[in-house]
Amino acid sequence: MNKSIRTLEALIQHELVNADHIVEIEQVIEHFSLSISPQMQQKIDKTKPDDPIAKQFVPHIEELKTTAFEYHDPIGDDVHTAVKGIIHRYPDRCLLTPVLVCPVYCRFCFRREKIAASSEKLTAVELDNAFTYINHHPEIWEVILTGGDPFILKPAALKKILDRLNAIPHVEVIRFHTRVPVVESAKINADMIAALKCDKPIYVVLHANHPNEFTPEASQACAALVDAGIPMLSQTVLLKDLNDNIETLSTLMRCFIKHRIKPYYLHHADLVRGTQHFRTSIETGQQLMKQLRGRFSGLCQPTYVLDIPGGFGKMPIGPCYLQAGEKANEIAYHIEDYHGDIHAYPSRLIDKTTG
Ligand SMILES: *Cc1c(COP(=O)(O)O)cnc(C)c1O
Ligand code: SF4
Repeated sequence: MNKSIRTLEALIQHELVNADHIVEIEQVIEHFSLSISPQMQQKIDKTKPDDPIAKQFVPHIEELKTTAFEYHDPIGDDVHTAVKGIIHRYPDRCLLTPVLVCPVYCRFCFRREKIAASSEKLTAVELDNAFTYINHHPEIWEVILTGGDPFILKPAALKKILDRLNAIPHVEVIRFHTRVPVVESAKINADMIAALKCDKPIYVVLHANHPNEFTPEASQACAALVDAGIPMLSQTVLLKDLNDNIETLSTLMRCFIKHRIKPYYLHHADLVRGTQHFRTSIETGQQLMKQLRGRFSGLCQPTYVLDIPGGFGKMPIGPCYLQAGEKANEIAYHIEDYHGDIHAYPSRLIDKTTG
């Protein structure tokens, strides 16, 4: 078992598709790319109908259902595409997508309509144009390499990109968004670590959604990155019946911390076509955030965010603990503690005699 599953035949061969659904699954694969890395195949427990790894990567007939609220371009990448390979939505940072392929294809991917498209890789000219754009925009302080998965590139190709970013004075920080350390850990080898050596600070944001993704190989890959002096952060998509319960979510957050990865974002699932079966309600997400707060270390707290459809940015949508109080009584605020008890907080901290 050393090849990725990429075809219907391979799915059948690995007994990952119900014989009654073959026609539908074929349709799903036509629309949305399929790839399950060997490492993830090994983690699938076929005896469990709800296996969290299978759920993330094995195509499902529900993907053929599209609701009126689902979009081709759920987070407005198109309107913010400056030149091919550059998505510039916020003033001080932009995305650079050198490749649009991934070692696995998550069935809920927010860019599922873009990735693995015909042009998988930026050509030399396109890459030049992307760097010219960054060069001409001195407000770009940070470049975020994403995709696809930038860690799928060969170390030498990655090094070339880093060298070019290193040469642009106003780019002070370089960030990677990747799933490679958990789904194809062997890629984080000595060559890759050497290629990531850069004068500028490099941050790696790992996308992982379930504690089962942390195999011994994954732990090793994360340790190699952190030991090389690269700070790691996490991003997780809140997924129905996969990590939308406090046991799994808290275990995952602790797992990140144990790997020296600081939880960064918990994403509310985007309105991507054919992903309704993965979405929870915002209330569920807020409830989970309340359960995390106070009961689990402050280190384990991600920010719960929603990427506003249309390209307006990621905004926090976690629970609010502070409410306006009665001004007349000099109680400006009510603040809720993690047990749900409410406490008053005064309007002014200045002593009246001096104020
Ligand atoms: C998510 C995203 C970023 C990064 O946002 P942060 O809040 O800095 O993590 C930047 N640009 C685009 C287009 C994005 O979608
Ligand atoms: S790794 Fe990221 S970009 Fe690739 S399929 Fe998964 S969510 Fe999409």
